[in-house]
Amino acid sequence: MTPAVDREVIVAGAGPAGIATAVALSARVPGLTSRILCLDKASFPRDKPCGGGLTGHAHAALAVLGLPIRVPRVACGEGRIVYGHRTRDVALGRPVDIVRRREFDADLVEQARARGIEIATGEGLASFEVDARAGLVRIVTSAGRRLTTRVLVGADGAGSRVRRTLAVDDRPPLRLFQAEVEAPAALAPTIAGRMIYDFSLMTRGLRGYLWLFPAPDGRINVGAMHTPTRKVSGAEIEGLLREGLRPYGVALPDGARGWPAWRYRASASISAPHLLCVGDAAGIDALTGEGIAVGLEQGPIAAAAIATALTSGDFAFAGYTAAVRRAVVGRELALDDRLASLLYARHGFSVWLSLMLFDRRMQELYAARVSGSEVLADRKTALLGALGRHAFAAPARLAMLRLG
Ligand SMILES: Cc1cc2nc3c(=O)[nH]c(=O)nc-3n(C[C@H](O)[C@H](O)[C@H](O)COP(=O)(O)OP(=O)(O)OC[C@H]3O[C@@H](n4cnc5c(N)ncnc54)[C@H](O)[C@@H]3O)c2cc1C
Repeated sequence: MTPAVDREVIVAGAGPAGIATAVALSARVPGLTSRILCLDKASFPRDKPCGGGLTGHAHAALAVLGLPIRVPRVACGEGRIVYGHRTRDVALGRPVDIVRRREFDADLVEQARARGIEIATGEGLASFEVDARAGLVRIVTSAGRRLTTRVLVGADGAGSRVRRTLAVDDRPPLRLFQAEVEAPAALAPTIAGRMIYDFSLMTRGLRGYLWLFPAPDGRINVGAMHTPTRKVSGAEIEGLLREGLRPYGVALPDGARGWPAWRYRASASISAPHLLCVGDAAGIDALTGEGIAVGLEQGPIAAAAIATALTSGDFAFAGYTAAVRRAVVGRELALDDRLASLLYARHGFSVWLSLMLFDRRMQELYAARVSGSEVLADRKTALLGALGRHAFAAPARLAMLRLG
């Protein structure tokens, strides 16, 4: 006989990934809605360091979930790649919207609540234990509540407690720093409707990029992403960000927030009996650091796996990792992980940076992927074509890069 539990499903974390999972599950099995509980240790609105870029994939995923964007946003129809004095502007078929996560996430929580999903805030997952023989998970919350559930979803972000028990990946996390600042008047025309990705600091040891995105209310969202293929301390990354912003006339305030983020790895298992990870707990895009769309796209995959488990009574979730890997989100993440291992390698980045800066077709393809109109992982012929062209053009492109 199936044991009684307090809730069929408990979702730890009410960020985009947790909300997407709960909303998708409630839409799939409406009768389950009152048996789902989302827990978040924070109270909303809460801050979340983030560039706040909602790409075409995020828009598409939100549309599938029926969650409109109801908060202030700035549309960017163009991305600019910068390296030294070289710049390349790339048009995006579908604009990326920049939102403030404090507002965006709180609104998603509100929309989920309006659908009848219970979201307890200010109450986190403190500990849990899978009782395989009883076929349930016992959890204790930070408020001391003891609850049982058949499925625990780890949507608890980069510091995920659920992820820790799965030993998902042994690679150190990405480091990201972010702040929101007043836009200097002189920068306004440059930044209007345009996201800037500046790779100049790679010559100084950064293995990643610096971004400047226009934010709501005439402000700008700035930050840096570093891949730890080179050891650079948090203070050094912050120093590099400060230095990299200077040519734009932007002064970084003290206290830019640093944050770790696990990289998605296709071979890593993101589930175990009675447990699933989504969003940052499962790993984000290693090339761009993008993770909002990732969480929004993984939520429905997790919901499908949970619905099947509740029907079949098989809570092993043996197929979940493969289902994510096979989906568009998993294929794009796996491709970006490979591209990141080239571009952010300890040595030799200029070979790949010159491909990105000087190959128009490659830029268009990546822009289409960001816009959500192309699945880049499925464009192997076009990617191989770009690599073939680069094999011949690399010496000249590298010379141009050195001149830049
Ligand atoms: C500086 C920076 C810039 C970024 N820029 C972008 C960008 O421009 N575009 C993009 O797409 N992505 C970006 N990302 C990634 C993006 O922010 C994340 O991938 C995204 O927030 C993941 O959503 P999530 O729901 O998995 O996790 P989160 O948004 O982190 O939500 C997790 C939630 O879990 C809660 N929680 C934590 N522990 C517990 C617990 N024990 N119990 C209960 N709740 C818990 C937290 O309070 C939080 O609300 C950026 C990340 C960083 C750090």
